[in-house]
Amino acid sequence: MTADHTAHTARRKGLLLILSSPSGAGKSTLTKMLMAWDATMRFSVSATTRAPRPGEEDGREYYFRSRAAFEAMVAGGDMLEHAEVFGNFYGTPKGPVEAAMREGRDTVFDIDWQGGQQIRSSELARDVVSIFILPPSIIELDRRLRARAQDSAEVIAGRMAKSRDEISHWAEYDYVLVNDDLDQTFARLKDILSAERLRRDRQPALAEFVRHLNREFEAR
Ligand code: 5GP
Repeated sequence: MTADHTAHTARRKGLLLILSSPSGAGKSTLTKMLMAWDATMRFSVSATTRAPRPGEEDGREYYFRSRAAFEAMVAGGDMLEHAEVFGNFYGTPKGPVEAAMREGRDTVFDIDWQGGQQIRSSELARDVVSIFILPPSIIELDRRLRARAQDSAEVIAGRMAKSRDEISHWAEYDYVLVNDDLDQTFARLKDILSAERLRRDRQPALAEFVRHLNREFEAR
């Protein structure tokens, strides 16, 4: 009898890839690149009480909700985590994440340090891979925020102040990438994901595969 060569690739539980960074460090671009690279990945669409920016669509970037609707989701236990960021509420709906995990699909989260902390201290902690993205410099961060030109000067100033607070949580993450070159940072992001998918505890079918190998030994 020969070992089943597909046994070791059998379905694993999906992992939760948490990406945090200050605004303007390139996190959204990297997230989009990752989704384009691997179509099996799911992006966790958060709910938020902030108003949509031009070009944003309900259900694609965010579920744009009223404060009352957001609070109802929290009260109903429908959020994996939620936090106040820049005076608005943001939260991760639980259902799609649980479904993706069951299907063996990995989910990408673009959430802040508060959300990262909450998911890491939940029962899902073992399934989390967290990455913090740092800008190469504060001058560059400021330049990137201004180049977006979607927000008012006041909002940009607020985000710069928040950036410092966000960056102070860098050491809580499994990996830290300095995004001085987008392509290089993306290559590293893919390396991290590829390696994390191969961890022994993320390959549930390995034990069975090794039993097959042992039966092959015995049949010789
Ligand atoms: P923005 O309004 O620029 O899209 O996002 C502002 C900040 O909120 C970003 O740092 C983003 O990562 C964070 N954020 C977006 N969705 C969530 C969420 O569901 N939970 C938490 N905790 N933060 C979020």
